[in-house]
Amino acid sequence: MAQLSDDCFAFGGPLMSVDEAQALIAERVPPLPGSEQAGLLQALGRVLAEDLRAPLPLPPFFNAAVDGYAFRHIDLAAAGETRLPVVARLQAGQAMNGIAPGTAIRIFTGAPMPGGADTVMMQEDAREEDGAVLLVPGLKRGANCRPAGEDVAQGAVALEAGRRLLPQDIGLVAALGLTSLAVRRRVRVGVFSTGDELAEPGTALGAARTYDSNRFTLLALLAGLPVEASDLGILPDEPAATAAALTGAAATHDLLLTSGGVSTGEADHVKAAIEQGGRLVFWRLAIKPGRPAAMGVIGGTPVVGLPGNPVAAVVTFLHLARPMVLRLAGARPEPLPRFPAEAGFAYRKKAGRREYVRVRLVAGDGLPRAEKFPREGAGLLTSLTQSDALAELPEDVTVVGPGDRIVVLPFRGVF
Ligand code: AMP
Ligand code: MG
Repeated sequence: MAQLSDDCFAFGGPLMSVDEAQALIAERVPPLPGSEQAGLLQALGRVLAEDLRAPLPLPPFFNAAVDGYAFRHIDLAAAGETRLPVVARLQAGQAMNGIAPGTAIRIFTGAPMPGGADTVMMQEDAREEDGAVLLVPGLKRGANCRPAGEDVAQGAVALEAGRRLLPQDIGLVAALGLTSLAVRRRVRVGVFSTGDELAEPGTALGAARTYDSNRFTLLALLAGLPVEASDLGILPDEPAATAAALTGAAATHDLLLTSGGVSTGEADHVKAAIEQGGRLVFWRLAIKPGRPAAMGVIGGTPVVGLPGNPVAAVVTFLHLARPMVLRLAGARPEPLPRFPAEAGFAYRKKAGRREYVRVRLVAGDGLPRAEKFPREGAGLLTSLTQSDALAELPEDVTVVGPGDRIVVLPFRGVF
């Protein structure tokens, strides 16, 4: 449904770097058309369809930033105390026309500054006695006040198109007095698992079977993205059924994700199924875990075939499926958040590919120390549940030693 050209993922090299893969996605996948109005809370996590210009300034009027006394700065003596009669009280939510020369007004945070008043002295710095306030010298004009529009000027772009809306954005939109905003439509993503060995959780397991976990991991990962996900079940290791299911689902989705069945084994039918329904490009990604990835287009809809091993499926989801979803969703690029850490392990790797090692982050005096999960298998689900982050070991690195500065991608940031 995304109407991609058949050969948009074509790539000639033997091994594709993660950066090349992401550049191809950024260049070849166009944002889906269409937007809709969403209420404030419905807009959370959605992609803003157009620049949001402020219909009013924020704050809307000149107001007191503290509890204290408002006065005209011209009435403040340059040296010695100034004594001004306190002629009125002004709470937040009340308004007053103007201030008479040589007087002060008791004012509270958020109350509009009376016309002519330009400065507020904090109550902690002032002394009130016998109906007058004693002000100390030295305060600058405009102190402790908030000018209208100091936060957002009227007509300014408050939020940019393509932004994936965060909780604080929702508050900003409310502060501008709006109750809804234009967001891009959700990406319809269909998720399949593949494999004769897979059983549906909740059913009897049977001999030689294992419960499907990837589909649930992937659906859970998609829940954090501007997506309408459909659970399309488990496909048997059977070419015709796989091809029919993918071709059928391509007609009603903007993106299809599968896991498993993309290596070179006899039971790996996803590639052939994509080829049958559309056009396949096999990507051998220079990434570990997760090397094989099938990319393709069926009837204009992109298909991403992720590897079957659960850790590989997560890592390739983050590097291929996530940017693909964000592109289709019309979101501006959002690189995965990366933070510095100190390696708490020794590790050797091949040059030329990027590796992700599951680590637990331990707070230290300086940078957090990344302790490696002791075992390496790409099928170990607990290597993800008992870790907090992926340590990213770049293509050119071959040796990592304790104390080396590395980069980590914390799960709480990337998911
Ligand atoms: P495959 O790439 O299909 O050969 O799968 C590689 C490994 O991942 C095998 O051990 C599969 O059983 C396992 N696997 C594949 N798909 C899933 C899934 N949806 N849930 C759990 N494990 C899976
Ligand atoms: Mg399989």
